[in-house]
Amino acid sequence: MSSTTAPTAAATSSGRQVVRRRTVLADGRDLYYYDWPGTPRQTPPDTRPLPPPPDSGEARFDPRTGDWVYVATHRQQRTFLPAADQCPLCPSTPAFATEIPGPDYAVAVFANRFPVLVGTAAGPIEPDGSLLQAEPATGRCEVICFASRHDLAFADLTPDEVRLVVEAWADRTVELCARPDVRQVFCFENRGVEIGVTQHHPHGQIYAYPNVTPRTARMIRHAVAHRDANRTNLFEDLVAAELADGSRVVAANDHWVAFVPFAAHWPFEVHFYPRVRVGDLRGLGDAERDAFAPLYLDVLRRFDRLFDLPMPYIAAWHQAPLGAGGEPKVPGADELALHLELYSNRRSPTALKYLAGTESGMDTFSNDVVPEDAARRLREV
Ligand SMILES: [Zn+2]
Repeated sequence: MSSTTAPTAAATSSGRQVVRRRTVLADGRDLYYYDWPGTPRQTPPDTRPLPPPPDSGEARFDPRTGDWVYVATHRQQRTFLPAADQCPLCPSTPAFATEIPGPDYAVAVFANRFPVLVGTAAGPIEPDGSLLQAEPATGRCEVICFASRHDLAFADLTPDEVRLVVEAWADRTVELCARPDVRQVFCFENRGVEIGVTQHHPHGQIYAYPNVTPRTARMIRHAVAHRDANRTNLFEDLVAAELADGSRVVAANDHWVAFVPFAAHWPFEVHFYPRVRVGDLRGLGDAERDAFAPLYLDVLRRFDRLFDLPMPYIAAWHQAPLGAGGEPKVPGADELALHLELYSNRRSPTALKYLAGTESGMDTFSNDVVPEDAARRLREV
């Protein structure tokens, strides 16, 4: 069972049109191919005999902290570091059918076969005051393949290829944040076995959560308090302060600023902000979308030069929990500014930072690298 719909313009708010072609995989999951207009694209059917996708796991509430914990036992069966000729994210060949039936692709997004969050609900999840509350872990987990070539890293992409990834992220944000049961859309990349990746192929993930995550809730709380105290936006003031100080700025262009935060948690950590505050990826105009790629690629390549090693990293897009029309899904959500956090757990050529007692037990980081030194070293490599 497989079907392909006619190509449509992706639902991006920028001026540059992207073509999205949807197909359905053998077990009913969606797959989207993203291309620039005029790119020929074969979208053959998925011929694999696949079992039905799993039911949702559980979202269990921790009444001590207010955190939701997702329990998904089926993830134990997922593919772990397959050989290159068994990669499920490469295009399919006559000899090996993968998650992507086509013989090639530019950017592909599909629903994860082993999702933490799956299915829909009438609305987001809310604590009900009970001590042992479990809800279905609804929402969506997607995989985004940044390139068809297995041996590339994100840093190897061209600016035009990065721009297409940005369009795909923005399009997924448009679609997922419109769901009434989704509160927050999170696009991220884990890179390197040191971070825990299970696939070497250049790819990221997109989570659509039925709750506002604890980090986001905390940032909104602080931004609202800052607004109440100063009548200004916390993130705008923060970017202005970092630019005025300058000692932690790693790179900047007309539309973006990249700096090591004053209170960096990780040995090497860089935050990227558009100079004009927007809530999420949908808010970025053409100029910002174009200008992101050169700056991000520059910093990623600095990361790799730092120790002459492929740097393990997490790249995490923080987006405001906004609805289809940009309305806040929780009070104060419109104070949160879109930004990307990039950080590595590598602190030297031979040493990694682990989240040990103070970090895991108390959510309190200790950082062995002074943020100003990290910024200087990143500027110098
Ligand atoms: Zn691959």
